[in-house]
Amino acid sequence: MKEESKSSAAKSFTPPLGFKFAAVAAGVREAGAARRDLALVASEMPASGAGVLTVNRMRAAPVNRAAGLLPAAGIRAIVANSGNANALTGAAGIADDRAMAEAVGKALGVGAEAVVTASTGAIGVRLPIERITAAAPALVAALGDDVVGAAEAIRTTDLRTKVAFREFDIGGKTARFAAIAKGSGMIHPQMATMFCFIATDAKVAPEVLQAALAPAVEETFNTITVDGDMSTNDCVIALANGAAGGPLIERGSPSAAKLQAALTGICAELARAIAADGEGATKLLVVDVAGVPDRAVAGDLARAVAGGSLVKAGLFGGDPSWGRILAALGARIGARGLALDPAGVTLDIQGIRVFERGGVAAFDKDDLNGRMQKAEIAVRLDLGLGKESARALGCDLSYDYVKINAEYYGGPKQATARPAVGANRPLVVEALSYIRKFGGKRAVIKYGGAAMVDPALKRSFAEEVVLLQSAGLRPVIVHGGGPEITKTLEKMGRKSEFADGQRITGAEEVRVVEMVLTGRINTEIVGLINTLGGNAIGLSGKDGRLLMAHKLQPEPGKPDLGFVGEIEAVNASLLDLFLDKGYMPVISPVGFGVDGASYNINADVAAGEIAAACGAERLIFLTDVAGLLDEQGNLVSEIRAADLEARLGKTIKGGMHVKAQAVLHALASGVRAVHIVDGRAPHSVVAELFTDRGVGTLVT
Ligand code: ADP
Ligand code: MG
Repeated sequence: MKEESKSSAAKSFTPPLGFKFAAVAAGVREAGAARRDLALVASEMPASGAGVLTVNRMRAAPVNRAAGLLPAAGIRAIVANSGNANALTGAAGIADDRAMAEAVGKALGVGAEAVVTASTGAIGVRLPIERITAAAPALVAALGDDVVGAAEAIRTTDLRTKVAFREFDIGGKTARFAAIAKGSGMIHPQMATMFCFIATDAKVAPEVLQAALAPAVEETFNTITVDGDMSTNDCVIALANGAAGGPLIERGSPSAAKLQAALTGICAELARAIAADGEGATKLLVVDVAGVPDRAVAGDLARAVAGGSLVKAGLFGGDPSWGRILAALGARIGARGLALDPAGVTLDIQGIRVFERGGVAAFDKDDLNGRMQKAEIAVRLDLGLGKESARALGCDLSYDYVKINAEYYGGPKQATARPAVGANRPLVVEALSYIRKFGGKRAVIKYGGAAMVDPALKRSFAEEVVLLQSAGLRPVIVHGGGPEITKTLEKMGRKSEFADGQRITGAEEVRVVEMVLTGRINTEIVGLINTLGGNAIGLSGKDGRLLMAHKLQPEPGKPDLGFVGEIEAVNASLLDLFLDKGYMPVISPVGFGVDGASYNINADVAAGEIAAACGAERLIFLTDVAGLLDEQGNLVSEIRAADLEARLGKTIKGGMHVKAQAVLHALASGVRAVHIVDGRAPHSVVAELFTDRGVGTLVT
């Protein structure tokens, strides 16, 4: 599943020499479950091991074991499970943890003391150790290059898989680094429910590795806060096996500095990914505190602001929350009894000066409110009292955070009426297990209507497709652009004319269509998806001859539509290329004529043709009605193709007629099912596909 990685850095890098990765389904949470939940990072030769572990005094058994073990030479593997934290499990938990190390050690042919263990998931529940030891031989047999698979197996409530690769030169040799991480909730400075396992083929002694790792963690993972709750299980563990060759990295040498920089870079990338993927988070919060005499104090203040519940809740609501930010700062200074007078503090939010000289600055509220819609919120406080500064990373606090955590162990008592499948699982896990059915399958989504205009809906749509992609589905987005094109033409003093729902497209109009669709709308969608951690690539029908088209000939007695095109062929192998590499194509429906001309193609028709050509399992239309409506205007929640065809031109007209024809074409070409859903409500695609209560119309 390499191609499904969400990390910006998950390109096809070679893993470090002598390291292998694996993941299997051991059924940690539930016997027989198909989800992979046991991961292994193994070195073919003894490696130096170092670790930075949670300072929580109620540490889990594996963390205590790692604390006793590291730093050390001769380490061969890290084995980690998700689904159970093996924390607060007493003597039995310690024995289970040892048994896990022994089983993996045995399968690898090494001693238990060469195997570092790590566990994450529910607290206070005994590990199903027989299932884990039984899975150990298969885990070792699966060892290969699948870094991303191992990263997926350690996820809990994470929505995204977190992997990072680095390569650089140490002492004339290329050292490679591959790291996997997890973390989403219970995240607070001084490590949180997070793992990060780093493998490198650099040649370095355990103590030197430890000395480089500790400051790297301090500057990165220890600056994140999701919820202020420190976990019992965090650990960052690094293994260095020396397979890259070259001279040994000596303490205090220039190569030791390089090593530390590489580790810091890797940890920074993953720390950011963890903060952005905070449970229920919709925004990344970056807080800088400057003008403080002491760096550690600056860091402490930055974390206090980034962790303020009211600040976070306000940000979720799109509020600048400047009063709450200043209150959080003042509270921390007071509570810690710091000798700092914040009277001269300045506050900038999203680059706008909001507060100075003890009062509100004159700023443009609309401008700031607009900037609060961004996926990343920058807060900068300058106390003007010194030269030091520090940064903390956080996220907003959403309804979903409470939902995820209230339901983690079964939910509030009122929730017992929910269906048994979901009753004792977090919402996200329930959705993920549903989504698994679609793993690797292609789904074409026609994106249009209000979902493309309203800022909140745009964002929730982008979030949805990122979620679908990270869950293993392979979405292909085909977007329309109607209202934007009309608006742009209006600005140019041109009137839009339609015939049978199609735009009459002259030479000037087709230039505007292309400019708006490909130049503006497409890049905006791609930008938003990628900001949210997706992996989208923008394509117009001209790129790689994706949509070959010719002029649509007017029917007798009908007006000539100009540059309105009809698709002749879809270059599906171009889509294969991107889909197989884990990209999400976002397609603007501009057709490419053999004559070199651009053609305006109806996005519904394009979506139908593309779904048919690329072997999509599903085709989904987002529209501005509840779905297909019957003659009384009631939603038809399920209908067969033949029935749909019978209604064409009778109760189905206008824009829906075009859509229905595209639906029929796709179904006839092998698409399993088509959904028409209401794009005016957020998250309708996920609700339609992944819950029992479909929200739109299902056509089969
Ligand atoms: P989109 O932007 O999704 O392409 P369209 O306006 O082109 O939207 O198509 C949807 C429109 O089709 C509806 O707003 C409605 O006016 C019209 N329509 C005609 N018949 C039906 C029907 N049976 N069910 C739903 N919508 C219908
Ligand atoms: Mg339409």
